[in-house]
Amino acid sequence: MNKLLGEVDPQIVEITAKDLTRQQDSLMLIPSENYASRAVMEAQSSILANKYAEGYPGERYYNGCQFMDDVESLAIERAKALFGVEHVNVQPHAGSQANMAVYHAMLEPGDTILGMSLDQGGHLTHGANVNFSGNLYNIAAYGVNADTERIDMEEIARLAEQHRPKLIVVGATAYPRHFDFAAWRQIADAVGAYLLADIAHIAGLIAGDVHPDPAPYADVITTTTHKTLRGPRGAMIMCRAEYADKIDRAVFPGLQGGPFLHTIAARAVAFKEASEPDFKTYQAQIVKNAKALAERLIENGFRLVSGGTDNHLMLMDLTSKYEKLSGRQAADHLEDAGIIVNKNTIPFDKRKPRTTSGIRLGTPMITTRGMKEDEMVSVADFITETLENRQKASIKRQIREKVKELCAQFPIYEYLE
Ligand SMILES: *Cc1c(COP(=O)(O)O)cnc(C)c1O
Repeated sequence: MNKLLGEVDPQIVEITAKDLTRQQDSLMLIPSENYASRAVMEAQSSILANKYAEGYPGERYYNGCQFMDDVESLAIERAKALFGVEHVNVQPHAGSQANMAVYHAMLEPGDTILGMSLDQGGHLTHGANVNFSGNLYNIAAYGVNADTERIDMEEIARLAEQHRPKLIVVGATAYPRHFDFAAWRQIADAVGAYLLADIAHIAGLIAGDVHPDPAPYADVITTTTHKTLRGPRGAMIMCRAEYADKIDRAVFPGLQGGPFLHTIAARAVAFKEASEPDFKTYQAQIVKNAKALAERLIENGFRLVSGGTDNHLMLMDLTSKYEKLSGRQAADHLEDAGIIVNKNTIPFDKRKPRTTSGIRLGTPMITTRGMKEDEMVSVADFITETLENRQKASIKRQIREKVKELCAQFPIYEYLE
């Protein structure tokens, strides 16, 4: 019982060490990822993992839950204060489960959901046909305007009027602009729909006051805790008090069994970190960095979807510069140079989701490391040089070295070295 991991399982230690090196030495630009703090990770690997605690604080189905109640209550109270909401359920294991629970609570199978289509920036759980949401519910999908590549609220109002959804989902995984939650509320009210704000990507920005706040407008808000919010993997559901029972019952016993109290403890730590003043500075820097990165990529001749970004991410349209280069190939070339991005469809993409014509770039992780606007210029230039010289292995190797040098100036997890 008391041996160290290295004694019990050197293989896992070795693989983890390799990924630590990869995480330290690469420019990680996937906008849904982040580096959680040492404190968050310590909480996550604690003995709280050993306990079953089905139910909620004060009403558990297991004995011995006194301290589980303390942990979960702390997480709930901190989340309520951080986001200014009436009720929080911190038990969903992931963002998909959180959305599933909301649909389970508010809808009957066959009811209509109006959500953003996957190929225009929505999430799988917003009604994709390969996902439970597209199978169980009747989906009406919205996208962006073909000219502006932004969500057009008049178009949303028309679609809502036409389809009369019971629930409207506002949120995305690949949309570089702000959501105007007040306008969404008006549309939901006009057709008598619930409004769900899925803020998985932008929760940190909202907590940091650099994105409009959905709390005054949405009936329910879901978020992951591991993206811009910089907590452990996990999710939560926030809602008005009137929906609290429905939501709680949908999570447990509706969809899940025992909660993961160790990650709930880590969520509590992340909420504490997110309520510190320097978290606001961090979130503001994420946005400044995204703008600086976008600006330089545009100067270097790339076209960004909608012409830029207001948040932490951007979508680069490769077709504007290299007709034959797919998002998939570009992401692989960039990985050769130590730059990790993901391929992503652009609105009205002519290629399939497995190939795509775009890549998605985000600044949360490089901002966590401490990089600022000056470094964004270098990052944009590394991306540009790599794609320009994508057939030249030796040049990609040289860029790989420069990437490592830049990363070395902004170390993470020094305590692990
Ligand atoms: C990431 C994400 C989710 C789902 O999160 P998982 O934890 O991967 O299940 C849901 N909605 C949006 C908008 C997301 O970006």
